Amino acid sequence: MGYSTKEQIARRITRQSAENLRRLANQAEEAGVRILLDYRHSQHVATDPTDRTACHLVDASFGCSCRVYQQFARCQHYGLLLSQLGMILDQVERTAA
Ligand SMILES: [Zn+2]
Repeated sequence: MGYSTKEQIARRITRQSAENLRRLANQAEEAGVRILLDYRHSQHVATDPTDRTACHLVDASFGCSCRVYQQFARCQHYGLLLSQLGMILDQVERTAA
């Protein structure tokens, strides 16, 4: 599996999952999660408001390193990252159901 472009990822996000991801992003913001970028490695990390010593590697293509993502293939960090990157489309294109 190769690297996915932003457009490919955005297209993969279905309407249902877009709603889920938007909700997760809102929960993350309310909880105080912050997405930071290590410019040298172009790697995003998400802070963990419940544990000041922890952070999670989060990536639009590969997901998040937290336990929730491993279990459910989505998490607040991932939702917030996609939201901040503008990858959750506000208006979802109608595609064949
Ligand atoms: Zn996560």
